[in-house]
Amino acid sequence: MRFATKAVHSQKNHNDSIGAIMPPIYQTSTYRQTIGDSPATYDYGRAGNPTRTALEKNLAELEGANHGVAYASGMSATDAILRVLRPGDHVIASGHMYGGNYRYFKFILEPLGIDVSLIDFSRIETIEKTLSPKTRVIWAESPTNPLCKVVDLELIAQCAHSVGATFVVDNTFASPYLQKPLTLGADIILHSTTKYLGGHSDLIGGFVCTDDDEWAEHLRFQVKCVGAIPGPMDCYLVLRGAKTLHVRMERHCANAHTIARYLEGHSNVSQVIYPGLESDAGHAIAKKQMSDFGGMMAIVLNTSTAQQTRSIVNELKIFNFAESLGGVESLIGHPATMSHGALTAEERIQLGISDNLVRLSVGIEDVDDLIEDLDQALSNI
Ligand SMILES: *Cc1c(COP(=O)(O)O)cnc(C)c1O
Repeated sequence: MRFATKAVHSQKNHNDSIGAIMPPIYQTSTYRQTIGDSPATYDYGRAGNPTRTALEKNLAELEGANHGVAYASGMSATDAILRVLRPGDHVIASGHMYGGNYRYFKFILEPLGIDVSLIDFSRIETIEKTLSPKTRVIWAESPTNPLCKVVDLELIAQCAHSVGATFVVDNTFASPYLQKPLTLGADIILHSTTKYLGGHSDLIGGFVCTDDDEWAEHLRFQVKCVGAIPGPMDCYLVLRGAKTLHVRMERHCANAHTIARYLEGHSNVSQVIYPGLESDAGHAIAKKQMSDFGGMMAIVLNTSTAQQTRSIVNELKIFNFAESLGGVESLIGHPATMSHGALTAEERIQLGISDNLVRLSVGIEDVDDLIEDLDQALSNI
């Protein structure tokens, strides 16, 4: 089965005696057990739920993975993976990543005595130089949040495997429709399902998948012990969202492309960062490892202060000024004061997250309305 058919038909409710097409939302915390039976598939809601199982199977299938585990949020998925690390272990990640993960590496992992190297992934030599026999995990995101930097996942996978480290890819920005990290050498894939997989800005969720049986066992044990599980209703919402992922992504990509071209020629925009533009630093690698370039872009405005940037953004009528991304509606964010507000000013400058940088999550509206909206707001600079 091809992607679009799998997205729609996987985890069809074949076993239902009344013929319901959709999987039921099993809103239950516990399950009746029968003495003498073989061990029950489900005993308690923290350990398992059939709606959650349906979601895990569906998303694993979309990534082409053998195992999948769903979480209460993308951050609890991050936490689940990194909990295998012990004091003295070494982890390498790109400084360019989702601000919440950056905060996790700095303020949760490091104080536990784990050696964290946050480095620049644009040159593979830098990663090679940072490798040590203690490196257990290499963590990459591509395209990155918020600067849409693209890194060569195949090369980084080789690097990780040369020292026996696990290669984790945060595939949230691309979604499984545009990029399949397992086929590029990743060992583990992470998603914030809050974003494209859910797709409607109505839930918080996370997901991890892998082909590695040992990792899968760790993840299942971890989620049962710690309990950062999504509720049945949220699982259902992600399942419902994932059915239209391919259709939504196609419109996200087409709209983003048209908007990037429009902004490239705008006199009040000094830079457009979108991997779909031929001039973009990540274009060649994105073309190699993604089937299209996604709906996210970063732009640098000709504004002089964070306050002026925020006030221009505030002029938009269709784009909502809000955190998050990947929903059907267009959103705009100001990373310096929002997603990356936890970083110091120095760290932000070093990463290129300037006060006049804004991030667009291009929705699936009529692109002409989106361009007219940007046009009227940018005319105020
Ligand atoms: C949002 C996001 C996360 C965190 O997910 P939550 O669902 O907000 O906990 C992780 N990685 C990326 C790339 C994200 O955009």
